[in-house]
Amino acid sequence: VATPANASKFNYVSLTDEGLTPLQIAQATYRDELFAEGILLTLGRAGLVGRSATFEKVALGVVHAAENAGRDYNATGVHFPPVIPRSLIEHTDYLRSFPDLLGSIHSFTGTERDQASAIRTLEEGGDWSAGNGWNSSDSVLLPASCYPLYIWSEGAVVPSGGNVFTLTGLCYRHEPSPDPARLRCFRQHEHVYLGSPDGAAAFAASWGDRALATLLSLGLPAERVVANDPFFGRMGKLMAAQQVEQALKHEIVIPITSDENPTACASVNRHLDHFSLPFSISCDGGNEAHTACVGFGIERITLALFKHHGFDVGAWPSKVRDILGLQ
Ligand code: AMP
Ligand code: ZN
Repeated sequence: VATPANASKFNYVSLTDEGLTPLQIAQATYRDELFAEGILLTLGRAGLVGRSATFEKVALGVVHAAENAGRDYNATGVHFPPVIPRSLIEHTDYLRSFPDLLGSIHSFTGTERDQASAIRTLEEGGDWSAGNGWNSSDSVLLPASCYPLYIWSEGAVVPSGGNVFTLTGLCYRHEPSPDPARLRCFRQHEHVYLGSPDGAAAFAASWGDRALATLLSLGLPAERVVANDPFFGRMGKLMAAQQVEQALKHEIVIPITSDENPTACASVNRHLDHFSLPFSISCDGGNEAHTACVGFGIERITLALFKHHGFDVGAWPSKVRDILGLQ
């Protein structure tokens, strides 16, 4: 597998680099194996890859399995683009929590002089996109699948029994890494609950079991753990500790590139009023609403399937192929 030119500038870890940790070596080795097999297609940047038809067939099977796991909720299916209004960031404490993960869209709103200056900067090898008429737009890349649901539901009054939605989003997180399971652009399939506080807690408890059962049924060595989000900075450590203490987040983890550091392949999240408050979502009769969600990481589960069942999808256990709808 060819190493891209200017690899270090793009955070691209090559196996020939010096000073790699054993974990980075394991991650980059599996990544290069996937490239060599033609399952992932390199774009020469950390965390940005293409996918083969076989990978995609399995990935759509994983979406199908995730959808089926919540079929009895009769959830309303909704679809949103991978670009959302900046208002989401401005209404919530996203900037306090995850500024380092955000991908913000900027576009050219300058004059012909700015354009000439950008081209000159490019020719001189500089950063043409810093200044030169390039400005922030009104939108950012989707950081998590369920976010647009809260923007769309602003001001809604939901039944105390709750509304359940299902959606798949194409997410962006700026976390370049040699780990093929840590992408910058990836899909999350979610079921999301908007309703009473008790209902949200019951939804999360039920999905803790269901998400684990779904991944076990795919023949994957899955385990459930209490987890925390990667909150930024010193204050973030405190927020993470609180999240763990209240057990607001559970993850289903599966070894992909390392047995000691299994990969989070799905998460169950209780948001309490984190979204319902800023977006004025309430329950019947003016009662408080809470939200909760379960997210399946489509690419990660697909990679876990390749890791544990091999690259020949035709030879996978027929029960697994059945659940993925591959028969
Ligand atoms: P989270 O919202 O962080 O709990 O993410 C939900 C799920 O999305 C995780 O359990 C992963 O399966 C998946 N996911 C999160 N970040 C990434 C990433 N950088 N690359 C691939 N999948 C991811
Ligand atoms: Zn969510």
